[in-house]
Amino acid sequence: MSKLLDRLAAGPVICAEGYLFEFERRGYLQAGAFVPEVVLEEPALVADLHRQFVHAGSDVVEAFTYYAHREKLALIGREGDLELMNRQALKIAKEVAAEHDSLVAGNICNTNIYEPDDPATHGLVRDMFTEQVAWAAEAGVDFVIAETISYAQEALLALEVIEDAGAAVVGLNCMRGPRTMLPLLGEIRDACQGHIAALPVPYRTTEAEPTFSALTDPDCDVIPDDRPFPVALDPFTCNRYEMGAFAKAAHDMGVTYLGVCCGAGPHHIRSVAEALGRTPPASRFSADMSRHAYFGTNERISSVNQEYSSKL
Ligand SMILES: [Zn+2]
Repeated sequence: MSKLLDRLAAGPVICAEGYLFEFERRGYLQAGAFVPEVVLEEPALVADLHRQFVHAGSDVVEAFTYYAHREKLALIGREGDLELMNRQALKIAKEVAAEHDSLVAGNICNTNIYEPDDPATHGLVRDMFTEQVAWAAEAGVDFVIAETISYAQEALLALEVIEDAGAAVVGLNCMRGPRTMLPLLGEIRDACQGHIAALPVPYRTTEAEPTFSALTDPDCDVIPDDRPFPVALDPFTCNRYEMGAFAKAAHDMGVTYLGVCCGAGPHHIRSVAEALGRTPPASRFSADMSRHAYFGTNERISSVNQEYSSKL
């Protein structure tokens, strides 16, 4: 954890998330169960996505163990692969982080079995966290992320298992897009002394539909169940400028750990990095429309093309 705190002392830390959605889109895991089977079946692809996010500006390589927990593996009949999947994901993350001197993070998440009034579930949750955190510790991660947890008590259980109930960073990730997450950050900032995290989903959530699972799409009548979440959210995707504007606004409010969750692409992460004044390697290819064939202003662009652009 001290390595994370050292980085935070030097400036904001960027963490790319959203691996499940990205590999679902690419066809390497199934929406619904959302288990990161790609870790075992196509490890090179996982390493490449880590690299692409680092290239785009992520300071953290987060091991792809989101939903690689006992409950999810049992759901798809692969409980026997639990330890291997975790160890493999951690190994991949460690290797990529070492290539770039990035931070490497273990990851635990919502167990989906926690029930506030049933103490028996609390013990099971603790056991699930304990085995995953032990594998992460053995792999030598710099810190462990507990994320996308709805219940405060479940999050506290995670903290007890990770680090004696202490947290280097607290905040929000997933569910809400930039527009509906930003107003909550001020409250967290006022209530917390330490570092604050903000990793929204890159979708245009609204006051009336504040989470990506609540979004409706009246312009489309072919979505099963009429619910765009989780695989028909495309028309709500935030562009890179929106994600950059969010990062700047959140940072101005004192948020020091920034990223993007489900739905994130490397172009979003690059915009977050650039909004914080950075130029990651991917910034070499940030848009320069002065060179565009029709909309460009470069002296090589013909005036005929420039005039034609007004008709496009
Ligand atoms: Zn998410």
